[in-house]
Amino acid sequence: MRAALTTAYAFGVRIDLHTHSRASDGTESPGELVRAAAAAGLDVVALTDHDTAEGWPEAERAAREIGIELVRGMEISARHDGHGVHLLAYLPDPTYPPLLAALQLVLDGRTARLPAMLERLRGLGIAIEHEDVRRVAGDAVATGRPHVADALIGLGVVVDRKEAFSRYLNPGRPAYAKRYAAPLEEMLGVVAEAGGVTVIAHPWGRHGLDRPDEATLAELAANGLTGIEVDHQDHDAATRDRLRAIARNLGLVVTGSSDYHGTGKVDHELGCNTTAPEEYHRLLARAAEAALAAGRGVPVLTAG
Ligand code: AMP
Ligand code: FE
Ligand code: FE
Ligand code: ZN
Repeated sequence: MRAALTTAYAFGVRIDLHTHSRASDGTESPGELVRAAAAAGLDVVALTDHDTAEGWPEAERAAREIGIELVRGMEISARHDGHGVHLLAYLPDPTYPPLLAALQLVLDGRTARLPAMLERLRGLGIAIEHEDVRRVAGDAVATGRPHVADALIGLGVVVDRKEAFSRYLNPGRPAYAKRYAAPLEEMLGVVAEAGGVTVIAHPWGRHGLDRPDEATLAELAANGLTGIEVDHQDHDAATRDRLRAIARNLGLVVTGSSDYHGTGKVDHELGCNTTAPEEYHRLLARAAEAALAAGRGVPVLTAG
């Protein structure tokens, strides 16, 4: 019964809640990304650049022009118990000073760690300069390892980002450098005060050690976490089943998304994973509650 109901409700509506533009480490401008989302047959797309809302205005203009629903989001680099956690925040007020301040610390940390990575690469005999990274990063607000990877591609050292990460940039590889990330529990509160909702991105993704277990997710849910991203390319079928069961136990919203980065990441095409409409509506309802609880107006989506 439940499956039949879900299918009827979901018919034809495609929702992708995690994508990146050139404001961070995607390869398309926010406008190009929104147009690509519409061309891919999506009805709803969230722009979730790392640690910045800089792409929102351009994405909103494109969404209005093309007639697609845009969810304003960001993917915040956070830390919990010494582990890196990516926290998706949807519909927060991006001008809320504590949120701006927290993001600025992360962005400063990104900038500060760049010279260390370049120094390590030079130590390996690779002639790479800050200018090489600046050129490929363009006007990105959040610079990161993918831009270093692109500079290495430009220099002919590697063929793609994947090779750059596996040879040089992943943790444990010779050019890796740590950077600052925001305290997770604090960010759950800050995003809520900003009238937004939070979803842990790829909670059991690639990095085997960085896995919040069920008890940790329960603790986070008790501290205001709204959902977890279950359907993500970094999760195999068994992982998705387990996370879906945990979400059901904890009353967390289940999302599914592509984590699209344009040509920067293979196997993450727009709409390769999607969020069920009823889960999306739960997320929006929670956002409306968060906004009202924070004494704010209910956030309005950008619709075409
Ligand atoms: P950073 O933001 O500097 O910590 O770099 C992390 C980003 O690198 C993630 O957001 C991913 O988008 C990207 N990334 C990690 N591994 C790979 C890979 N193997 N290929 C392409 N992009 C990657
Ligand atoms: Fe990324
Ligand atoms: Fe992520
Ligand atoms: Zn992402």
